[in-house]
Amino acid sequence: MPELPEVETTVRGLAPVLEGRRLVSVEARRADLRRPFPPDLRQRLTGATVTGLGRRAKYGLINTDRGDTLVFHLGMSGRWRIDPAELGTHDHVIVETDAGSRLALNDPRRFGSLDLVPTGDLTLYPPFAALGPEPLAEGFNVTQLRAALAGRSAPIKAMLLDQRIVAGLGNIYVCEALHLAGIAPGRAAGSIGGGRLARLVDSVKEVLLAAIAAGGSSLRDYARPDGELGYFSKQWRVYGREGEACHCGRAVRRRVDSGRSTFFCPACQR
Ligand SMILES: [Zn+2]
Repeated sequence: MPELPEVETTVRGLAPVLEGRRLVSVEARRADLRRPFPPDLRQRLTGATVTGLGRRAKYGLINTDRGDTLVFHLGMSGRWRIDPAELGTHDHVIVETDAGSRLALNDPRRFGSLDLVPTGDLTLYPPFAALGPEPLAEGFNVTQLRAALAGRSAPIKAMLLDQRIVAGLGNIYVCEALHLAGIAPGRAAGSIGGGRLARLVDSVKEVLLAAIAAGGSSLRDYARPDGELGYFSKQWRVYGREGEACHCGRAVRRRVDSGRSTFFCPACQR
């Protein structure tokens, strides 16, 4: 499933193809993904020029000179294909630029979304309304995190997955950051001291930046003739490594809570 680093990599890959380009053709080949597309998607985008791209949590943002922002979410299986040799049944939205590039939003499982929001109203867009700070921005820091967790007895892992506390973190990067910080996933959030919280903040930023850097090397995939974007696979510290040795020698454990796996080292994390 695309997480924040994959979305960031996607935005960085789309930027050189879209920035400053006029959209000469926009075609939706179905009416919806997880929810209906805006009915006026085609009219509002056709002829518009892309002025910039960005990201908020796990959403990609494409701004146009008409004051609209195309907000996309890749769901479970979404990706943008650049200049695909041919279109397939899962290419649901096709965009062509005045430079002759063709982009296809491909999403076999259709859990993604595509919305068009006035750029000035983005903070009112319902998925963004209650979002906490971006984990890579200065607003995510030990002071903010300590205030958000004060008095909370819920497990720290659940708190980091709460989008109101910090935006865009998913299961993989929370497991990885907790391991890097040496904090047990089940530890009561409000009981973690300031020094360890500071290390947790640094760890969250570090695992995300490392994943984005690894993804950067796959950006060339955008130019491949088949247009496939190869989501980078990474050797995780603990994620997906149940039974394998942690760097300390102990076996990585997996626990399942409400259908979600938590990977951790019982020796390094406390
Ligand atoms: Zn360990």
